[in-house]
Order: sequence, then C-alpha cells, then structure tokens
Amino acid sequence: MNIYNTMTQEKEPFKARHPVRVKLFVCGPTVYDDAHIGHARTYISFDMVKRYLEYKGYSVFYLQNITDIDDKIIVRAEELGVDPEKLARKFEKRYQEDMEKLGVSGVNFHARATEHLDKIITQIQTLLDKGFAYETQKGVYFDESQFPEYGKLSRRKLEDLNVHRIQQDEHKKNPGDFALWKKRDHKPLWDSPWGPGRPGWHIEDTAITEEYFGPQYDIHGGGLDLIFPHHEAEIAQMESASGKSPMVNFWMHTGFLNVSGEKMSKSLGNFITIRDLLENYPGEVFRFFVLSTHYRSPIDFSLKALEQSTKSLERIKTMVVKLQKLSLKAPLEGPDDVMFQDILNEYQEEFFQHMDNDFNTPQALAAVFNLIRQLNKSLENKNPSQKTLNKILRFFNDFAEIMGFQFKQIFTTPVTNPDDLLEIILDIREKLRQKKEWELSDEIRSRLNNLDIEIQD
Ligand code: AMP
Repeated sequence: MNIYNTMTQEKEPFKARHPVRVKLFVCGPTVYDDAHIGHARTYISFDMVKRYLEYKGYSVFYLQNITDIDDKIIVRAEELGVDPEKLARKFEKRYQEDMEKLGVSGVNFHARATEHLDKIITQIQTLLDKGFAYETQKGVYFDESQFPEYGKLSRRKLEDLNVHRIQQDEHKKNPGDFALWKKRDHKPLWDSPWGPGRPGWHIEDTAITEEYFGPQYDIHGGGLDLIFPHHEAEIAQMESASGKSPMVNFWMHTGFLNVSGEKMSKSLGNFITIRDLLENYPGEVFRFFVLSTHYRSPIDFSLKALEQSTKSLERIKTMVVKLQKLSLKAPLEGPDDVMFQDILNEYQEEFFQHMDNDFNTPQALAAVFNLIRQLNKSLENKNPSQKTLNKILRFFNDFAEIMGFQFKQIFTTPVTNPDDLLEIILDIREKLRQKKEWELSDEIRSRLNNLDIEIQD
C-alpha cells in the first residue's frame, strides 16, 4: 500500500513503526462555533483512512485534539456574554454529534488542550532548558534560528518564514518566532513558571501526541492549510525537544472543500454548517460526495453534486438488495458460478488496487460501479448460486465497512457459525503452544476469557 507523504512529496510504501499497530493523529477542531462541511471533508477522509488501515489488518489508534483554548473562543464567549469553558463544551458536544451523524466513528480518543496543561508546560520547559526557546515580557517563544530544518515540510526557506500570525512582540529575536506561552492578565488564565497566561496553539498538539504516542509516530493528518505554520511548528517543537527525527513517518493533508472556487471557511463567511446540510441530506450522501473525489484534491461543493451522490448511492443499495433477494432462492451451486466469480474477482481486485494507491476512493468507486454494471448485464440471463451471491455480498459488506456506509439494515450476509471461528482460534493456539509461544497463547486465552469463553488445557 502506498501513501503520499507531504514531507517527501512522493507516494511511499506504507510501513508502520510497529508490525501491526498504527498511531494516527489528526488536528481536531477549535470549538467556538458549529463545524462546517469543510471540516467534515477532512474528518470523513481520515475516517476512511483509518477504516482502510484496519481492513488491511492494522490496529489503529486514532487520536485527535480538541482546541478548547484559543483567542477565538474567548472573543466569541465575550460577544455572547457566556463562560468560555461552557461555550467550548457546548460546541465540542455538537461537533461529536455532527461526526456521529456523518458516520465518523474512528477517533479513539479526543484530548482536550485544557486537560493537558501540565504536559504543555513540561514541553515548553524542555525547549527552554535545551536552548530552543526564550522568554520575553510578553511570553515564551520558539527560536526558529535554533532549528535549521524549520520549513522542511512546507519547503520554505527561513527567510521566507517571516510572517507569523501571532501578536507582535518587539522583543522577539526573529520575526518568525512563534509563541509557546502567551503571558496574559485577563481570564481564562493558567499558572505557569513564566506567569499566568495561555499556551500557544502549536504546543498543544505536540504535548498531546507526546503524552499518548511518544516523540515519534506513524501518521499525522490535517487540512492543507495546516502545513504552514502549524505543522511546521509542531515539527520544530517536537524534534527539538526530543532530539529525535522524524517526528512523523507520514504527513497526510486533505484538499479544501470549496464553494465557487473559494475555500469554505468561517473567516470568509461562505460556510454551510454540517447541521444545516444534515437537515436536507443524510450523512452518508455527503460521505459519498466526499469520497467520490480523491482526498488530496480540492472538491467543489454544489447541490447538483449532492443530488448525483444520492442517485449513485441508491444504485449501490439497489444492487445489494437485488443480490440479497436472489440469494434467498438461489440454488446452492450452479453452472454460471465461474463466470460470476470472474466478474467479482476482476473488479474486487481493481477496487483494492485503487485503495492501495494512496486511498484512491474515486477510482475504487468506479470499480464498484463497473462491477454493478457487469452484474446487471449478466443477471439478465444467468443465475449465480447462493454461495457465489454471498461472496459478492461479502465484498459489498467490506466495501460498506471501508467507506463507512450504513448498508447494514438493508442486507445481512449469512453469519459464520461462531463455533467454526472458535475452532480456528483454538487450532492456532494449539500450534503456538507446540512452539512454546506461551505469551501469545496466554493472550488468546485471556482475551477469550474476557468474552466469557474459558479454555481448559
Ligand atoms: P479548524 O477548526 O479551522 O482549525 O479546522 C479543523 C480541520 O478542518 C483542519 O484540519 C482544517 O485544515 C480542516 N478544514 C477547515 N476548513 C476546511 C475546508 N474548507 N476544506 C477542508 N478542510 C478544512
């Protein structure tokens, strides 16, 4: 499987740091308002990435931060005359509800910035101790001149990096130095060795990833807009603090969701909230719309495209229902099986080749539609057996699982007898015992035990 790595600007064979475990971190939302469909584009894409990695056999831990300390939250709370923490909690909850409706279920843990202040302060202190940061009257800053590789992700040179979005401080050493700690005198405030204030935006993420993943991990994701300065700053902080490089093996970035060629964003005021969208369209239609474009390409939002997605999704569901109905009355075996198997094999293979090619979902979807076309044609005068139909249905089941479509209510493939599965597990455990692999065989026993299945040797 190949994944495009923003750092090398090439597709590279994916290799996890651990044989079967993948650590995935994606920048979460700043919770000061309802999330819009641009956010949804990014989070649906990474949900698909996680689902596919799991399909490939990896156990993926997907971590996401929640930016609940930010000037935007404070400004909004002041405007509304409410407590910033309450405001953040409210929009965090609404974000989670939106994600659920979109079928985005992959995040294993949401880490709030406000619950990681200790770790943030420790990391800033490490950067100060190692000479990568300095203190002024207004805050603590990362000294970009101490990290010559600054700019390696966005391929910008140090001299081009002078513009930084943080407030001006005439005592900064270099114009591009970014804040690790902002000294403040109005609430909300947190104590620190440098006085009360708030952490900078970038340090939140590296403190959280270090806490749960350590200084190095597999995949870091986010939208294209985060490459600079956010991700660049993350690299500078973490690699300087730990002395280890690379912080991340694969950098993945999603393209923008645009309206009439312009990025959808709160600042441009051209946004549609996920909630508004879901009043008129089911979450999975929007999912289909997102996945019908490659995650790195820009995607243009239009109602016409959503109508098209509704129809396309319906075509897949119609085929699934048709196969299921046929399977109920089909013979157990039949003369046309080889032909149907060949059709399935061809397009199934194509589907997975495209998914292995940097999660090329539009091409993978095209393979599914070609499969549907061929099946419709062949079913006009040929009859597959129940066995073959179930195989085809199983592929559609896997497809739904990977893409996150909710087909489950529409069809069920025959459930494998659990006793047969158990027999396979016990056979493998027996072989492990013969090889004296006690640790693994004990793990199997204890995990089965957790399911109330007791093995007596
Ligand atoms: P924010 O809350 O603006 O920090 O954004 C959270 C995530 O959503 C980041 O990964 C952004 O890059 C992503 N994002 C924001 N707007 C868009 C958009 N119009 N299209 C795609 N991704 C977006």
